[in-house]
Amino acid sequence: MRLRWGLLLLVCLTAAAAMGATRYWVEPVRCSGCGDCTRVCPTGAVTVEDGKSWIDPEICIGCGLCQRVCTYDAIH
Ligand code: SF4
Ligand code: SF4
Repeated sequence: MRLRWGLLLLVCLTAAAAMGATRYWVEPVRCSGCGDCTRVCPTGAVTVEDGKSWIDPEICIGCGLCQRVCTYDAIH
């Protein structure tokens, strides 16, 4: 039983570390403000203001969908 709880804790810590390690950000000079990233984001973490997109690190879950759709290579 103790081993099972230990494994569960290990899995949770590994998942949390993996999520925390993945941070996405927008390079403003490359962003065209097209809004494609805002349409695919499942959590609504991306907004476009004054023609540039911005990712809220508190809401982003690090799925990477926005980076995949950005044809301007503006998300890293
Ligand atoms: S998809 Fe890329 S270019 Fe378009 S708004 Fe998002 S970051 Fe900017
Ligand atoms: S990585 Fe995923 S959750 Fe984070 S801003 Fe991009 S699409 Fe949204």
